[in-house]
Amino acid sequence: MTELLSNYISGQWLNGQGAGTTLHDPVLGTALVRVDASGLDLAAAFAFARHHGGAALRALTYAQRAAMLGAAAKVLQANRDTYYDISTANSGTVKNDTAVDVDGGIYTLSTYAKLGESLGDAHFMRDGDPARLAKDPLFQSQHVLTPTRGLALFINAFNFPSWGLWEKAAPALLSGVPVIIKPATTTAWLTQRMVKDVVDAGILPAGALSVICGSSAGLMDQLEPFDVVSFTGSADTAAIIRSHPAVTQKSVRVNIEADSVNSALLLPGEAVGSEAIDLLVKEVAREMTVKSGQKCTAIRRVLIPESLYDSVAQALSARLAKTTVGNPRNESVRMGAVVNREQFKAVHDGLAYLKAQTTVLHDGSSHALVDAETSIACCVGPTLLGTGNAAGSDAADRVHDTEVFGPVATLVPYRNHDLDHALQLIRRGQGSLVASVYGSDPEALGKAIPELTDSHGRIHVISPDVAALHTGHGNVMPQSLHGGPGRAGGGEELGGLRALNFYHRRAAIQASTAVLTQLK
Ligand code: NAP
Repeated sequence: MTELLSNYISGQWLNGQGAGTTLHDPVLGTALVRVDASGLDLAAAFAFARHHGGAALRALTYAQRAAMLGAAAKVLQANRDTYYDISTANSGTVKNDTAVDVDGGIYTLSTYAKLGESLGDAHFMRDGDPARLAKDPLFQSQHVLTPTRGLALFINAFNFPSWGLWEKAAPALLSGVPVIIKPATTTAWLTQRMVKDVVDAGILPAGALSVICGSSAGLMDQLEPFDVVSFTGSADTAAIIRSHPAVTQKSVRVNIEADSVNSALLLPGEAVGSEAIDLLVKEVAREMTVKSGQKCTAIRRVLIPESLYDSVAQALSARLAKTTVGNPRNESVRMGAVVNREQFKAVHDGLAYLKAQTTVLHDGSSHALVDAETSIACCVGPTLLGTGNAAGSDAADRVHDTEVFGPVATLVPYRNHDLDHALQLIRRGQGSLVASVYGSDPEALGKAIPELTDSHGRIHVISPDVAALHTGHGNVMPQSLHGGPGRAGGGEELGGLRALNFYHRRAAIQASTAVLTQLK
């Protein structure tokens, strides 16, 4: 029998009462560890976090909490090798892909430790300047933000067990709000180990950080009006969370990061061989293959003028053909596995669904697996599809609606010189996390970008002058907002100190100027 991972609640490590769910290595098929959350006293766990964890965190200043985040980041840094091993075994990722999750998480935590220092010794934040309510500036309105007196429940997706934890926990803990994290079962091991290392280091007050691994049953039922819930995952589960009575009846604040059919757009006017086209090809190939395409921000649709369809298809296919797929332990392998058999099947089903309206430009099944058994390993070669021509892009509704969560993208040509057509096609994604835009004319780029900002949380612009500097279409930087309108869930995370808003309550204080200056 494999080890059963403990849950950390009410300041104690506790095992679930059932046999548990076994986590597997998606490349070798071996059993790794088990998780189980049955029989836990969730009501007591939530009350402990809310009352003990919350009170202890709120007693500290922003600067003190920032120092705790910095200390936690050091602990994680010291244990980085273990996290890489867990990630290879449980997520099937090559080192570069593990870095996106593990190092990305530690970097985000460190960034919030630094940002938090700037908030100093305060216990609340002023929001804007006082506004005069009467003729003389003697009676004014000042908005303030104070940490909510509840807890933050995080329900996370399987693809980022490290980054997904820390990108949420860093702003919550900095705000003074205790965290209960429920990682996706499939990859819960890494989240559990990171929480364990930070808890064992004794950096955080009891109740500040709890982890529950296993079923989500009963978690939402514990939420009270001042709690918040932040969810990352599929649109179907998001709908369940949104309609839960905690949200509909108790006004529990909810943040949703769901799926998204993100785009890359090459502006009209680029000639074959231009640097902007090379940059697009490089970025699309990278986005398709990093983490085997299991990134909510990955490029799914590639919009190019119709006249460039064949040349871009050839350049992209040539690049994808070089991707070695298989066992991430083999140094020659560039792309590992998808996370489990269910996802393996979901990617193949999704591909079949898209293929009915597209043609295959590069076939993932042409990639022989390195050091891996085809009947066991959940490895999928990168597949590029195409709609053929601009009319095909209009007709292929599935391409605009369907997120295949794997190494799959579709080339979507638009009418030559017709940027409006490209924008129209992009908007059929109904709101996305990110779009990247490629071109060499700053004026044309500057004009196109505002056409995309209403339907995207982030626009990543790749022009030749930033070729060696830009941070990547799919990489979520803590300085920039992460989230997207409409289908992407309508949520907002990160964006520097903006992330703290979710964990604070805003109130207007109407008082004399003399009183307002004394607010401490
Ligand atoms: P999922 O099946 O919706 O699961 C997400 C989380 O919800 C897991 O922790 C899951 O627990 C939990 N859950 C399942 N049923 C629940 C219920 N009835 N009540 C409360 N929680 C429940 O999604 P996934 O397959 O893990 O993730 C893939 C999807 O996430 C993709 O569509 C991707 O686009 C999206 N994603 C979005 C972002 C973003 O930032 N926008 C980031 C990453 C991924 P169990 O694992 O125990 O079932």
